[in-house]
Amino acid sequence: MNAAVREATAPDPQGSGPVAPALVVSGLGKSYGGVRAVDDISLTLGAGERMGVIGPNGAGKTTLFKMIAGDVSPTDGRVELFGRDVTAVPTARRARMGVGRTFQVSNLFREMTLLDNVRVAARGGTSGARVFWRPQGRRDDVTMRSLETLESVGLADRRDDTVAALSHGEQRQLEIAMALVGRPRILLLDEPAAGLSSAERATLRQRIEQLPRTIPILLIEHDMSLALGLTDRVMCMENGRHVVTGTPAEVRAHETVREIYLGRRDRKDRM
Ligand code: ATP
Repeated sequence: MNAAVREATAPDPQGSGPVAPALVVSGLGKSYGGVRAVDDISLTLGAGERMGVIGPNGAGKTTLFKMIAGDVSPTDGRVELFGRDVTAVPTARRARMGVGRTFQVSNLFREMTLLDNVRVAARGGTSGARVFWRPQGRRDDVTMRSLETLESVGLADRRDDTVAALSHGEQRQLEIAMALVGRPRILLLDEPAAGLSSAERATLRQRIEQLPRTIPILLIEHDMSLALGLTDRVMCMENGRHVVTGTPAEVRAHETVREIYLGRRDRKDRM
């Protein structure tokens, strides 16, 4: 068993019993008509662990992510968060349980400032979620927490700019801030580097590396070098199926993975 998973299932020092892994996916599958987008995928993400899911176009990564986040209902299998079966629990309730996530298609309010975007996200994660957003003073708790979170992703000095003024890479950093401000117990990142230049990727990689190790992270990523560089364990999928799970070094050396990423099947991907 992986060390992080072992730690996650070890007895809690406070004596309140074993701590459940952050995420357990068992036999998960999704069919669209005759297409088996995800087929019998299982994984465990322990406390503080960072796991990557890689695979070529159409491997089923996004469908898997959406089933974990609650956007898509599985055809088969089960998703557990923090020891609770959430397979039938809607996205908003999963968010309230502590799931922070980013979106492949940007979810930002382009004409609003960075600070206001993060404040809206912060309100979505609290019991005040149903209160409509309105501009507020600079010193309330939500604003202070939003400023701290912007600082943690390196965007504090841009707080009064509108999203429209940000580069693509900065928008991705803002999305991570919006996922973090609700103080998530698990972070799901959906292809955060998609469409970024190599300089923007390097900055994003640094930001993700600097996130608190206490938050377990599941990173779905097409860019293999990013996924392998940021995670403790990696799962590779192809055509909806599991290929291999292992340390980044094990996955990099795996024959099928090498064939997928370096061989004739998908030359566009990088290793
Ligand atoms: P990419 O890296 O290109 O985003 P992916 O690994 O995320 O690919 P998915 O988007 O999960 O792969 O797609 C897996 C398979 O399921 C593909 O064959 C895709 O066409 C199919 N698929 C995904 N969503 C749907 C849908 N809503 N309806 C029908 N087929 C779908």
